[in-house]
Amino acid sequence: MPGVGRETRQQCPECGTEIRGDSRFTVWCAACDWNVDPEEPQPDTGRLERAERALARRHGEQLLAEMLSGREPRPRRDASAVAAIALALTVHGVTLALAVGGVWCLLAGWGGAGIVVGLVLLALAGVLAPRVHRLPDDRPVLFRADAPELFALVDEVAHAVGTRSVHAIAVDGSINASVMTYGVRGRRLLVLGMPLWEVLTPAERIALLGHELAHYANGDTRNGLVVGTALRTLSLWHHTLQPLPHPSAIEMVVNALYVVPRLLVRGALVLLVRLTSRAGTRAEYLADRLAARTASTQAAVGLMDRLLIAGPLGLLLRSEANRAALGGSRSTREATARADKLWELLTTYAASVPEHEYERQRRAGARRGHQIDATHPPTHLRRACLLGGEPMTATVVPQTHRTDQITAELATARTEVARRLLRDGPEA
Ligand SMILES: [Zn+2]
Ligand SMILES: [Zn+2]
Repeated sequence: MPGVGRETRQQCPECGTEIRGDSRFTVWCAACDWNVDPEEPQPDTGRLERAERALARRHGEQLLAEMLSGREPRPRRDASAVAAIALALTVHGVTLALAVGGVWCLLAGWGGAGIVVGLVLLALAGVLAPRVHRLPDDRPVLFRADAPELFALVDEVAHAVGTRSVHAIAVDGSINASVMTYGVRGRRLLVLGMPLWEVLTPAERIALLGHELAHYANGDTRNGLVVGTALRTLSLWHHTLQPLPHPSAIEMVVNALYVVPRLLVRGALVLLVRLTSRAGTRAEYLADRLAARTASTQAAVGLMDRLLIAGPLGLLLRSEANRAALGGSRSTREATARADKLWELLTTYAASVPEHEYERQRRAGARRGHQIDATHPPTHLRRACLLGGEPMTATVVPQTHRTDQITAELATARTEVARRLLRDGPEA
């Protein structure tokens, strides 16, 4: 599949225009959009996520119009943000009530039954209580001393977008990047997906860092402590209250008792997503704008294009993982060589994707609302927003010696991630 494809020529069955294609990609017609989106829509990921995607798309279109009209939407604490925080606090209030009830049962002197009920309530409250993220222990994590040049670049980008820098950088196998806080002191963690990082140009990497760090600068409420933890608590409730499959007579009674609480929990979840979706979408556009201000509009648009081919990149990684699985067990040295080769394969492939495939992904995205996850507006809208604004030049410019240094600093982590990718396939 990677490498270079054969050029193909055929006539469009719809309008007769000659189509030139690449044997590795879908053949489609730019004149009439024939076969522009032949793939099945993504596997159904559940009603809540579908609702979230639909909202991100609708808000994406509304806010794009606002952004392009010149009225730059400022991140602000509007009525929905206040309502979201109130709802989140109510959720945590229920957890607190369970804990208080548990202690009361223990101290009320009701004997064995009281103690059992008290302990159950306390255990439940313990599971549902908001908790801070920890540093991941299942992927490489770099600190300042491990990668001084990478941190220096992140510092510079953070300064450019007007926020503090990060304490740690985790590296994983996703075709994505993200930021979060960890620990009780709210330290900052940047997560870099190596497959995405590797296929970006140095300037596009600065755009990626600018986008991610801008989320700290803008204070996205959904990732905020109060609302983020309430979403987790509600999801746990929702999971626990699912009806039992193939119920016995007693379990049928339990299922019936679950119906009303489940509807309540679902309603609260949907409401919380609704209350935060518009602000989340606005935060994404603003983050893109800051990314363009840091790395230039051209680099930010280049980043969007790379995100458009996240699907094909994921397929390539999966097929390499399958191939590695068929190859059986190997010596450590062979495995390392193979792992390092994966990045070469991936970057060669990404560089060889023809413009007509990007254009097809853009048009297919416009039809079905392509997005890398449920919280980001569709990629083609983000791209349109960047191109619709004033073109911006870079404030942080890549330097060759620094780029090389960073590559060296990431070498060990990169090999480690490739070995995991070949063993487990790409992360969702
Ligand atoms: Zn045609
Ligand atoms: Zn984002």
